[in-house]
Amino acid sequence: MAIDFKLSESIDTQRQMAQMVAEQMMRPVSRHFDEHEHDIPWDYINAMWPIMRQNPMFGAVDKPETATDPNKPKKPKTGNVRMVHLIEALSWGDAGMYLTTPGGALGGAAVAAAGTSDQKNRFLARFGDSETPVWGSMAMTEPQAGSDTSAIRTTAVRDGDSWILNGEKIYCTGGRLSLEESQGLVVVWATVDPKLGRAGMKAFVVEAGTPGMQVTKLEHKMGIRASDTAAVVFTDCRIPFDNVLGNPEIPKAEATAASADAPKGFKGAMKTFDATRPAVAASALGIARAALELLREQLSIAGIPIRDDVPVNEMSAIERDVLELEAQHKAAWLLTLKAAWMMDSGEANTVEASACKVKAGEAATVITQKAVELLGPLGYTRELLAEKWMRDAKINDIFEGTGQINRLIIARRILGFSSRELK
Ligand SMILES: Cc1cc2nc3c(=O)[nH]c(=O)nc-3n(C[C@H](O)[C@H](O)[C@H](O)COP(=O)(O)OP(=O)(O)OC[C@H]3O[C@@H](n4cnc5c(N)ncnc54)[C@H](O)[C@@H]3O)c2cc1C
Repeated sequence: MAIDFKLSESIDTQRQMAQMVAEQMMRPVSRHFDEHEHDIPWDYINAMWPIMRQNPMFGAVDKPETATDPNKPKKPKTGNVRMVHLIEALSWGDAGMYLTTPGGALGGAAVAAAGTSDQKNRFLARFGDSETPVWGSMAMTEPQAGSDTSAIRTTAVRDGDSWILNGEKIYCTGGRLSLEESQGLVVVWATVDPKLGRAGMKAFVVEAGTPGMQVTKLEHKMGIRASDTAAVVFTDCRIPFDNVLGNPEIPKAEATAASADAPKGFKGAMKTFDATRPAVAASALGIARAALELLREQLSIAGIPIRDDVPVNEMSAIERDVLELEAQHKAAWLLTLKAAWMMDSGEANTVEASACKVKAGEAATVITQKAVELLGPLGYTRELLAEKWMRDAKINDIFEGTGQINRLIIARRILGFSSRELK
């Protein structure tokens, strides 16, 4: 199937609506939520909930087709392409506020990627049924386990019909919204046997209000300050046995030692990232577009033209810089669209998902930094949002796998190495 960049009418309409929300609901309060970290943007959240309930952004699901004619060609899936367009537009408004958009978010995406159909029904229904906003989140990172996920120490021990969770998770995006502000859920990565390394890792759904789970800290951050980043502690936290996502079977130590490939539990996590890394890339590129547009606008006010149609040797230095930034932005966006399109087409997209995240994270960091530089004092002061976007952009090079880790993933895939062989 050939990749097609023309948007369907439906996605284009939704993208325009998201851009309108970004302009009218996000931009006017963007500075407030940057300066009042831990305030919750309820007006935005409450306005978005009725829309997100009907059309969830994450866990990108295409509605099942109702057509009965077996000869009728199936409509191509577009959920991931739609998702990246919406996220890009909302992040143009405010990337931190976008992360407060109600819905399943990373937690929902993990359930969608690794859950059984019964679990999808059980856990994802709340993101459509609830009258009030609900969030999902995902907790993998621990104080000693970030890039090296095999170092996870949170344990899940079977006790009859339950699992008992103990451990500490940090940097959980939306932890407060999902666990304290709604009847949401968090997907917790824990080990059923630390000796097994990655093979012992499984994902567990813990629902808000479960005794033994507590949000203990909210981070103070450089950027995306409207979004909460929480520490969550589990102390003898008992959850039902069938809250383990996917296959509950515990692998045998001998079998996993013999296998160099990523085991099933870990593969579940990777599948989640194949869907969510293009989302992070899209968010980065929404911020970058905001910076590029502001840059052109301010240069035009200052009487500095940016001509697209002159030979390179006749360009001013500033023209060359701006056009180079715009080219980087476009390249990253095309990669992002390709990764999302491959996901929709059912093609393995691990390389493309990591590649678009690396490229977009870096492009957004460079573009916003250069925008601050070229805008001079206007860029550096709080009069405009350029300095905020520079702070917001950097996270896209850090979470969901840092730039270095995603480069490793790409290299392993292309060269055919396992994670043990190429560290
Ligand atoms: C705002 C924010 C939100 C977050 N949200 C979530 C969330 O919702 N859920 C969640 O589970 N986590 C979340 N995280 C955690 C994030 O995913 C981790 O911070 C990230 O994976 C890096 O891990 P680390 O912090 O342990 O850094 P480290 O792993 O200690 O890395 C430090 C540096 O070393 C580099 N490095 C490490 N290993 C290698 C290697 N093998 N080769 C080359 N370079 C290497 C890294 O690239 C990085 O530059 C969030 C973090 C932040 C800051």
